[in-house]
Amino acid sequence: MRALFGGSFNPVHNGHLILARDILEDFSLSEVIFVPAMVQPLKGKLLIPPEVRLKALKAAVSLQEGFRVWSYEVEKGGISYTYDTLREYHRIYRERPYFIMGADSFATFHLWRNPKGILRLSRLIVVSRPNFNLNFRKVLLRVDPGAKVLEVERGGVDFKPSADVIIYRGRLLEISSTEIRKRLREGKSVSYFLPESSLEVIRRWQDALQKDV
Ligand code: ATP
Ligand code: MG
Repeated sequence: MRALFGGSFNPVHNGHLILARDILEDFSLSEVIFVPAMVQPLKGKLLIPPEVRLKALKAAVSLQEGFRVWSYEVEKGGISYTYDTLREYHRIYRERPYFIMGADSFATFHLWRNPKGILRLSRLIVVSRPNFNLNFRKVLLRVDPGAKVLEVERGGVDFKPSADVIIYRGRLLEISSTEIRKRLREGKSVSYFLPESSLEVIRRWQDALQKDV
């Protein structure tokens, strides 16, 4: 079984990567597939161009067993909707994968395009995030009151939950792309927040910007 991990990855950081590794192991998955979004429908302007984000993400996962990047949404262009991406996934794989999202993303899940359809096509793994408390059931009531919910802890060995929504009590990793972008803007170091190989991609992009000025 596989999990899809959607996001803007603007840029990818160690929070994403450690989380993906934990889930890969705990759910005994064959793969975690990172799906970078072209434009996040609910998000404002992007600082790092899509091709740089994609390159940095590829640099982070390319040598990691069990990790892969699927650039479907970026190649398709325009606004990406998870529902459409899951339909395409089904066309190819004919299976109902897991779909990973942080609690902050789940908080607005009812505003996504066809959230009930997303639940039909995938099983959500909703991950706790520092400084973010969420009433999971309240969101779910607005989407699908009949959905089966299960809470699991990290390290639960080899569980294969059959629920529609799995609340995953994972490691709390206080890293966000927002903070990384802020640090970049302020000229602060972002070493240790993301893999060195991804950082290298971002540095090259920044250097090219400098030359343009
Ligand atoms: P931004 O600050 O720009 O929103 P982000 O750090 O939230 O960036 P995204 O690309 O938006 O990163 O995240 C993709 C998915 O990963 C989202 O569902 C988000 O909730 C989740 N996620 C990101 N960082 C973490 C983290 N540190 N812990 C748990 N989930 C996370
Ligand atoms: Mg985010």
